[in-house]
Amino acid sequence: MNPPAIEGGTPVRRKEDFLVFGQPEIREDEINEVIDTLKSKWIGTGPKTLKFEELFSKYIDPSGRTYATAVSSCTAALHLSLKALDIEVGDEVLTTPLSFVATANAIVHSGAKPIFVDIDRETFNINPNLIENNINESTKAIIPVHFAGRPCEMDKIMDISSRYNLKVIEDAAHAIESKYKSKKIGTIGDLTCFSFYATKNLTTAEGGMITTKNKTLADKVRNLSLHGLSADAWSRYSDLGYKHYLATTHGFKYNLTDLHSSLGIHQLSRINENLKKRERIWKIYNSAFKDLPVIFSKEDLENLHSRHLYKLILNLDELRITRDQFLDALHRENIGCGVHYIPIHLHPAYQKYGYKTGDFPNAEFIGERTVSIPLSPTLRDNDINDVINSVTKILSYYRR
Ligand SMILES: *Cc1c(COP(=O)(O)O)cnc(C)c1O
Repeated sequence: MNPPAIEGGTPVRRKEDFLVFGQPEIREDEINEVIDTLKSKWIGTGPKTLKFEELFSKYIDPSGRTYATAVSSCTAALHLSLKALDIEVGDEVLTTPLSFVATANAIVHSGAKPIFVDIDRETFNINPNLIENNINESTKAIIPVHFAGRPCEMDKIMDISSRYNLKVIEDAAHAIESKYKSKKIGTIGDLTCFSFYATKNLTTAEGGMITTKNKTLADKVRNLSLHGLSADAWSRYSDLGYKHYLATTHGFKYNLTDLHSSLGIHQLSRINENLKKRERIWKIYNSAFKDLPVIFSKEDLENLHSRHLYKLILNLDELRITRDQFLDALHRENIGCGVHYIPIHLHPAYQKYGYKTGDFPNAEFIGERTVSIPLSPTLRDNDINDVINSVTKILSYYRR
């Protein structure tokens, strides 16, 4: 047997063909749209962003009752959502420790204190049964994260939030396509935040969207996203006469440009096609890895999973290597990968809140064992085979 490259064997892929993790699928349509925008001389926030917002709100909710506001990132979306709900210093916001630091950073930027609630090991999502223990007079909101694209238990979360009068802001950075039961993610909580970062299921390079059914909140978010101005820069010029625009609040600079929206319009049109491609890769991986020392979760048959991240949860009891050694070994086969995530409470910036190792055992369990492998719709069959051969070679070699 050819040993792993890290042990002196031949790598599965050549170095020149390193398989980059999270490759976006960019086609001629969006390239031409970007060029068209550049030639139109209107590259800031304007007609294409408006069009992207309209298309996105229809995609999330064809009934037309959901407002969508485009912003510069999901981090900005989370921050604006907290601001629109008047969350401030002295407040507490509950969230999961198993997320990207942006989720908790947004809470910190609002002035509130992030309170972590451990996850369920099966779903990787916040465990709704642990939420109530963490609620006190200062608690104002919950930010559930639909991890990897698997919806959180929203019935339980919405029930708790209504009983304690809390707001719900969903971090749907992974979950553009996801549905909870029959409800599209983006139509459930008070506000929902999406990410269009380079590696996400829909990308505009950088970008985000906030959806809400509440007109007052939608207006507030829009106002706060552009300096707190009464009218945005585009309507100022499109109207017949000159219009002053005045700051009504101290807003932020979180608008999305037409250059970015040019990508989004076409990415959105292929969202279902690309989901189908990732669903196919997901199935191939599941059957290829079923006998390896990895821990599988039960399939979620009730909800629609957006298949954002395919995670291997290494069964360390059956392996002679750590997760980090596995990452090195996979890299040496010239396969890129990711770690989602080192739990937020273990990052140095969060030590000041007094969190320590052992506080959230389930998030830490996953954090020590998780590896995300390539799942981009750009993967061809030979790429998929290379991933499978590399993972199989390494895990078989180091199996106890
Ligand atoms: C990517 C991501 C974010 C941040 O998104 P940006 O658009 O990069 O700001 C927030 N939360 C989660 C769970 C993410 O994966």
